[in-house]
Amino acid sequence: QDDGKKTELVLKKRTDILDALCSSGSAEHLERVLDVLLAQGELTWEDYQNVQVLPEVQGAGFSSLSSCSNVEEKEETHGTSAQTLLTQRPSLIYKLQDCIDGALKALVQSGHFTSADFDPVQLPIYTPTQQARRLLDLVRSKGESAAAAVLQYIHQKQEAGSSLNEEKLTPPKEVLKYQKKLSSSVCAQSCFLSTYGGTSHMSLDDIYTEGQLELAHECVDVQGPLGLEDIVGTVGTVNEEADTVLVCGEAGSGKSTLLQRLHLLWARGAALQYYLLLFPFSCRRLNSEQRELSVQELLFQHCCWPDREQEEIFQFILDHPHLILFTFDGLDELKQSFSDEHRLCCPTQRAPVHILLFNLIQGSLLKGVRKVVTSRPEAVGPVLKKHLCKEVLLKGFSPNGIDCFVRKHHSDPTVAVKVLESLQANTALLGLCHSPVLCWIVSQCHKELLGCGEGSPQTITDVYLMILQHFFQRQSPPKSTVRLGWQQGHLETILHLGQLAFEGISTTCYIFSGADLEKCDVTEKDICMGFLTQSKDMSSSHSKCYEFLHVTMQCFFAALYIVLSSHTDRYAIPKLFELQELRDTGVSSMCFRSCLPSTDQEEQIVDSEHAVAETPNLQITATFVSGLLSQRHQSLWLHCCSTAMVEKKARQVARCLSKGMQKHFKSIPQPVQGEKKSMHAMPGFVWLIKCIYEMQESRIAKEAMSKLQVDHLKLTYCNIGPVECTALAYVLQHLRNAVGIQLDNNSVGDVGVEQLLPCMHICKSLYLRNNNITDEGIHKLIAKVIQCDNFQKIALFNNKLTDACTQHFSHLLKTRQDFLSLRLGNNNITEEGAKQLAEGLKSNHSLKHLGLWGNKIGDVGAEALASALENSDTLLWLSLVGNGVGSEGAYALANIIRNSTSLEELWLTENCITRAGVECLIEALEHNTHMKSVWLRNNDLSLEEVKEMAQRESRLTF
Ligand code: ADP
Repeated sequence: QDDGKKTELVLKKRTDILDALCSSGSAEHLERVLDVLLAQGELTWEDYQNVQVLPEVQGAGFSSLSSCSNVEEKEETHGTSAQTLLTQRPSLIYKLQDCIDGALKALVQSGHFTSADFDPVQLPIYTPTQQARRLLDLVRSKGESAAAAVLQYIHQKQEAGSSLNEEKLTPPKEVLKYQKKLSSSVCAQSCFLSTYGGTSHMSLDDIYTEGQLELAHECVDVQGPLGLEDIVGTVGTVNEEADTVLVCGEAGSGKSTLLQRLHLLWARGAALQYYLLLFPFSCRRLNSEQRELSVQELLFQHCCWPDREQEEIFQFILDHPHLILFTFDGLDELKQSFSDEHRLCCPTQRAPVHILLFNLIQGSLLKGVRKVVTSRPEAVGPVLKKHLCKEVLLKGFSPNGIDCFVRKHHSDPTVAVKVLESLQANTALLGLCHSPVLCWIVSQCHKELLGCGEGSPQTITDVYLMILQHFFQRQSPPKSTVRLGWQQGHLETILHLGQLAFEGISTTCYIFSGADLEKCDVTEKDICMGFLTQSKDMSSSHSKCYEFLHVTMQCFFAALYIVLSSHTDRYAIPKLFELQELRDTGVSSMCFRSCLPSTDQEEQIVDSEHAVAETPNLQITATFVSGLLSQRHQSLWLHCCSTAMVEKKARQVARCLSKGMQKHFKSIPQPVQGEKKSMHAMPGFVWLIKCIYEMQESRIAKEAMSKLQVDHLKLTYCNIGPVECTALAYVLQHLRNAVGIQLDNNSVGDVGVEQLLPCMHICKSLYLRNNNITDEGIHKLIAKVIQCDNFQKIALFNNKLTDACTQHFSHLLKTRQDFLSLRLGNNNITEEGAKQLAEGLKSNHSLKHLGLWGNKIGDVGAEALASALENSDTLLWLSLVGNGVGSEGAYALANIIRNSTSLEELWLTENCITRAGVECLIEALEHNTHMKSVWLRNNDLSLEEVKEMAQRESRLTF
């Protein structure tokens, strides 16, 4: 009967199981399960061959293998080496994976294999474990004595005392010399931050502040935040066959700085010492490599040239891939998007650099070398994900991180305190500072910030205008006699750099040569302003090149150019806001060259080389254009260009935003009859909202929202942090109907919660599952929503709540007699919290759902809740799953069943209730006809007890 149940379970969970086996994109999980089934005799060899998934290489020598093994199957294998190969398959594969070469050679020596047998085993597309499996399969097909030989080889290896996985080796002298040269070059490249280049030198040691790192996938073994070395380590691995780790984050979230930190620590011998050699690459710089290169040339020419013995050093790398680490910064900035179509296995073959890079990432080249790649999220598609061993999200600074960064930035602590105070007073700005690049600007501009009083920056555009003014005034402090505005005095510089930035954005160019600067009339004086920095180049053979301090700075200058120049074409703004459709407008133009090819043929080329960074950069630029053209800033441009032109452009932007929104709304499907109309945010929705916020004109926000009629707005997994919350609240507050706002699985945090307050009056239910919210955020939220008539439901599953927040909920329950649903699952609420909640519940007569799954309220908590709820005539659903509730708690809860006229479902799964407790529930149910079910799975009950009690009361579910 048990087996029957298991089969049933497998059938029931079929989709989940398939998903678990196949979703990583590698056959490894499936193959491992097959190994175990084979070893346990659950699968015959024949079954195994039918299921086996060999990656498109059937022709490569395996047809002979399967025919041999069919013959073999008929032989008696019991008690033989061949049998051992089967029964110990999983552990043999583990032991073999690092010594395939040796095993093959031993088999040749013993006469069981010929060199022709090497190829089908060592196909370059196979991972080491796959090679081990193929080796065992082939050995099996050769018969008993081959099986004995391979077992003997493994045995000897172990006897020799060397664990097969750990080689103790002393690298050759030349390699050690090279290591020294490489690390001193890496050290020199990484000890200063380029953003501080123009003003003060700031060593990375002095300013580096930990960012927030999270695994993109849920992982049960990982508690708390990840540290720097965890990025490279094995923690959170989802695909063991892959060698590439992706660090994903928005522009300015600190990806380059994080790699820089890793490089520096390695070069100094302070971290990652397992890796003998570390090769850092910047995709931005790889873009300018026009030649075809081999991997060897790529490493030596782009990172560090070995003075001698190149071949020997490269051979060492090939032989010891596990000791090598590569980093690739900014995959999104590469001109070509990732593809795994063009396979390359040979390390000496030359190919275009992006092909090399893609093959290194997927492991067809230099399998076993650890790779860390950074990228913005937009560039990460399913094809790339297939080749990742894990994905780590970099989410900028935490509130503590902001504090820490500001203190490090200012050597004078009183200044630091003043800056921090002014951030606390302006939470919109505080929200912006979660992005390290903005935190840097704000700290850099502390004088402007502290001097601006009421007009403290609210938007991203405000912050960039502040640094613009800061850099200009640093060069030429304002003279009291000359009443020119800072922007007029530097108009030329703005236009020169603007054109450079603009053309760069249009052609995916971030590094500018002398010729590029000349073309845009960028002078030495413009360079001295500090917005450009000299490119760092590992190979240092090129002439001087420049880049903007940060890509967002380039977008800002591009936006200034669009706003101030009379040379951009009149479709520039509409094209900018339409993003992807730039190519469809059919209007050829000087700008956005790469997006607007003039012939079909050209289009094809451009299409395949379409850089992934383009869309996000255009989005950032458009956000700045919105901000720069907002009415608040129009006066800045009074004497810079014609007012009529600026006003016209502002009208264009307003029209684009309104049109963009309407398009979104039109795409919302009609609701199924009987259901509410719900909108899931499409890509670009949050961006449009942010543009509207930059304009700071409520008229535009109102108009944008006037046509949106939905009941539920779903923005789950949309990368929403405090900044997005500010913009959302600014726009959504103008909705005409109250809506449900679902923000599950974002990074709202306490600062974000505070930013949402202005739109709480149009919110009827708020879903904030998994958002890093603490009691502090809840305190502010409840103080607000208590006054919002529409607010009736809240879900806060999986945040950081403790007993300290329950008094606020209690207050809410007491005050609001129309509140319907409170879900606080998976937080840290104990019996004390439950007692507080009970206080509120006693005087509440409206709540229908109460969820406390996965807290720690125990018996005492359950008793408190039960006594508050026993006479409830509204509560329909109560969940105390996984709360350490025992029979004492169950006795108390039985009183709700006895007396409440409304409760329909009671969830008590995963507690420690014994028979006595359940008896009490059964007895209570005898007098209750409206109750539908009581869930009791996984409590302290024996199988017999379960069986017997289930028969007595069918509403109990075990
Ligand atoms: P990304 O590569 O994600 O666009 P960067 O690493 O270039 O972001 O960060 C932009 C700027 O923000 C840096 O030049 C630096 O001034 C600041 N910054 C980023 N991360 C950190 C950090 N961890 N500690 C200190 N400053 C940082």
